[in-house]
Amino acid sequence: MPSSPLNRRNFLTAAGALGISLKANAAPPAILSSTTLLPPSKGKRVVIVGGGWGGLSAARHLREVAPDLEVVLLEKSAAFWSHPLSNQWLVGLSDGRHLVQDYLAAASAYGYTFIRTEVTAIERDTRQVISDQGALNYDWLILATGIRYNFAPWFGADHRAAEYTQQNYPAAFIGGEETRALKKKLENFGGGDLVMTIPLMPYRCPPAPYERACMIGWWLKARKIKGKLIVLDPNPIALGFDRVYKQHYANQIVYVPQAAVKAVDPFGKTVVTDFDTIKFDDAILMAPQQAADLIWQTDLIGKDSTGKPTGWADQDAVHLHAKGDERVFLIGDLIDKASPLFGHYPKSGHLANRLGRIAAQEIAARAQGKEPPKLLPDSVCFVHANVEPMEMIRIDAQYRLRGDGLIVQTVKQNYDPNPRGEDVAWAETMYREFMALTPSGR
Ligand SMILES: Cc1cc2nc3c(=O)[nH]c(=O)nc-3n(C[C@H](O)[C@H](O)[C@H](O)COP(=O)(O)OP(=O)(O)OC[C@H]3O[C@@H](n4cnc5c(N)ncnc54)[C@H](O)[C@@H]3O)c2cc1C
Repeated sequence: MPSSPLNRRNFLTAAGALGISLKANAAPPAILSSTTLLPPSKGKRVVIVGGGWGGLSAARHLREVAPDLEVVLLEKSAAFWSHPLSNQWLVGLSDGRHLVQDYLAAASAYGYTFIRTEVTAIERDTRQVISDQGALNYDWLILATGIRYNFAPWFGADHRAAEYTQQNYPAAFIGGEETRALKKKLENFGGGDLVMTIPLMPYRCPPAPYERACMIGWWLKARKIKGKLIVLDPNPIALGFDRVYKQHYANQIVYVPQAAVKAVDPFGKTVVTDFDTIKFDDAILMAPQQAADLIWQTDLIGKDSTGKPTGWADQDAVHLHAKGDERVFLIGDLIDKASPLFGHYPKSGHLANRLGRIAAQEIAARAQGKEPPKLLPDSVCFVHANVEPMEMIRIDAQYRLRGDGLIVQTVKQNYDPNPRGEDVAWAETMYREFMALTPSGR
């Protein structure tokens, strides 16, 4: 049940302490519920918070399947940033022209309203979104706010260490600024030990850190930089990356399996695992991940059997609404396990996009008084397994409902030793579909 506004604000602080959201350090946001962002809707209104792969897809499809609904997308960033294809850009293998996209162009092409604003609270009992510029009523709400880092296992309640780590050793999993900072770091790296910690599963785009390691290994080799990338991995390694590291980057990459990070000292530049204390010259510190701040603030985090927060949004896995609140839909990387049979969906842009489309169809059916359909997503992911020679892996995941209502997953991996830009073609198809990208670029 929604709690009182005061409790919710207290909850934000408590959640911040757990996840060490950097915002927990800031003064509490002013609640501007007396200022409205838009005049009252003449019909029904859907508000979407978060203009990433999930939210943009929901906005675009709602306009198509429910043209009578008013659709408003609220996003805090000025422009859309794509993580897909960003690892290649980090090391100069792509010109980055696909990474930044224009929100206003997409909103105008599909006919929804885009407002740049940060949402600070949700009043679920009065169906109101509160942002730093004013309030907005909704009939249905879609939350697609992505992830945040969980620095608590490393730093407890030490906000200064968390902030210092995020600024100086960016993981480049959230937004463009971190990825730009990491690119600069690599360009300035003159040699020595560069440590990269892989987050414990589940996290956004599981193959991304391994792909990034390949790219950096290649970068060090091609530029003859006397440095080593030390990869600390707490997860079982997938996709044969260890073979590629050994075969092609033996002098550049030290891959350490079963390396769960126990402590990090970002000021003294050390990482402690169960077996070692590793001193670094520079680092890419990928902390564990969990659902973004707003999901904690809105009291939508799931609980495990012991009552402990799972870190991810609790939802009906088929219909995508929040448990106990069919006016709020949860999509993208922020969601909890989809099925006891396989756990989490892969946290991919492709899958977030499909969940956005499904949420649009759910809301359209409800608005028309119809039974919502039972639709499931799919996921496609292209991963570079090597640079020279270029090797790629395509991972396809399909989902179906079993007779007992549980979701079943089938995953196929195809190794491609001779790729021809399939990843760029996939991204362009996606951008054409949800960012209104034209074949010439815009
Ligand atoms: C290096 C890397 C490579 C990847 N490669 C691939 C790939 O090849 N293929 C693939 O399918 N996926 C890939 N991914 C994963 C993909 O980027 C994510 O799965 C996808 O971004 C998830 O979409 P989302 O909508 O859930 O979240 P996001 O895309 O993170 O969008 C969330 C949005 O919400 C906004 N927001 C958050 N809080 C608020 C608030 N309070 N108010 C207003 N706005 C807010 C944020 O600014 C953001 O724009 C990759 C990820 C990484 C890190």
